[in-house]
Amino acid sequence: MRILLVEDDFRMGRFVEKGLQEHGFVLSWAQTAAAARDALSEAAYDVIILDLGLPDGDGLDLLRQWRSAGFMEPVLILSARDSVEDRIKGLNIGADDYLPKPFSFEELLARLRSQIRRSGTEKKSILEYRGVRLDALGHSVSFKGQSVQLTNREYALLELFLRNRGRVLSRTQIGEKIWDAQFDMQTNLIDVYVRRLRVLFEFPEEEEPLIKTVRGVGYTLS
Ligand code: CA
Repeated sequence: MRILLVEDDFRMGRFVEKGLQEHGFVLSWAQTAAAARDALSEAAYDVIILDLGLPDGDGLDLLRQWRSAGFMEPVLILSARDSVEDRIKGLNIGADDYLPKPFSFEELLARLRSQIRRSGTEKKSILEYRGVRLDALGHSVSFKGQSVQLTNREYALLELFLRNRGRVLSRTQIGEKIWDAQFDMQTNLIDVYVRRLRVLFEFPEEEEPLIKTVRGVGYTLS
């Protein structure tokens, strides 16, 4: 289980880090809003623990940006601000849970586990974006209401993009996930498949394509 801890208080961070590592979690610790933004755009996490008062910004703004960019990771807010208004605000922006400071480590652990259980059983089976609809249970895809036939690779690539909305996927990441670790990065196979998806899910020229090229890095669902 990979957890992203966003916390600027060093003692608090060390306390959570130590406890979670003892319980077998893999933890990345970001001490600023900027570091948290970078961490989440580079990798996926099972849960994010988010402090609100950060030296370079407010955790709630960070959460708002993540949700509007499409990041769906469960977020547990950990904060000394514990008025009912603060909690409601956090939950409305898209937090999944709210734990006021001070807290007991056992309670944090129990709440993390409950988030992980919930997101595991609720792994979204219907993914929708800009008229593209992928039904992971029925293994079917439609676009603006019309059924679209995809090969297995095209389907896997589309699902990967839909599950990582807002995240830039490098060619290496795509190659490893959709082909395998031995994927030959020298071929232009990924570009060919991306082009194919753009043709299948075509948007008018004045709009952005479904999958945007990020120069020198890879691709992102836009
Ligand atoms: Ca803080």
